[in-house]
Amino acid sequence: MTTSTPLPTTPATGPVRGDLLLEVDDLRTVFHTPRGDVAAVDGVSLRLHAGETLGIVGESGSGKSVLGRTVMGLVASGPSSTVSGSVLLGGQDVHALSPRERRRLWGPRIAMVFQDPMTSLNPVKKIGAHLTQPLRMHQGLDRTGARERAVDLLRQVGIPDPARRLDQYPHELSGGMRQRVVIALALSCDPEVLIADEPTTALDVTVQKQILDLLARLSAERHMAVILVSHDLGAVVGRTDRVAVMYAGRVAEASRTAEVFGQPLHPYSEALIASIPQLEAAPHTVLSTIEGRPPDMAAPPPGCRFAPRCPRAQDRCRVDLPLLRDPRSHPVGPERLAACHFPLLTEENR
Ligand code: SF4
Repeated sequence: MTTSTPLPTTPATGPVRGDLLLEVDDLRTVFHTPRGDVAAVDGVSLRLHAGETLGIVGESGSGKSVLGRTVMGLVASGPSSTVSGSVLLGGQDVHALSPRERRRLWGPRIAMVFQDPMTSLNPVKKIGAHLTQPLRMHQGLDRTGARERAVDLLRQVGIPDPARRLDQYPHELSGGMRQRVVIALALSCDPEVLIADEPTTALDVTVQKQILDLLARLSAERHMAVILVSHDLGAVVGRTDRVAVMYAGRVAEASRTAEVFGQPLHPYSEALIASIPQLEAAPHTVLSTIEGRPPDMAAPPPGCRFAPRCPRAQDRCRVDLPLLRDPRSHPVGPERLAACHFPLLTEENR
């Protein structure tokens, strides 16, 4: 009998905390639709370092999930879409690779956890088969070694009685357990970057918190860079180092998470924060909502895309597209970026 090999918390030859892993520059993802071209992601740039967690938040249709999939290389140039700009993963341009070369990055370099665990799990395949297959293929483990590693992985993601779970089918597990299995699957090849795309949407509130805390813990333990895509700004507070707030395909604001929450610069961030339910609020308190709807992405407004909904909008906003920049005239502390002509500056940060 072979002895169980514990998974390393950081890969022996992997990146160390602080290494730059991901550089996204001026990324555009344009879908060619019967109604015209739709730039679902329109000029997004970001950086991600080992051990860092980045939240990408915005309403449904803001482009955050398309951004995640384009970074992963799941959305690429083809008959129905055009991707431009660059996504450098460890210095390698994901979109300059052939589809076959790109697939080789999936697992060891970058992995993704999807919203619905059943998207990643085959209902007629046992949990053990899901986990051991990539371990045997990518890590060259034999049958017994792969099974033991699979048990370790399930234990790491907090699944009780992991050896027994290997012989169960996905439908025999709860939704929360299935999502933990999907996270274990994503971790199986020790990815440097993990993209979690609305990983808790299908789960109840208590399990949501457990899964989000698990991702934060794994990131810290393994020096893994995590991108947490969520429509829920509340989900990223306290669990991400930085946040990018997206609106209509563009980044509206990007800064350290605590700063965006403490003092948003962009009116859209402010409105999103106001719509988060407060624990201490009196019962039956009506939640704040953002009036209006996101723009039709096949024909977005010419100036600021948030202008039709923005309480601070002025004439300039309707004609002049604001660029992402640090709006403070005497910046102190880390960079703060907002794409707004009339940001919410206070006496301290003016
Ligand atoms: Fe509002 Fe104008 Fe800023 Fe856009 S640029 S968010 S419309 S104030």
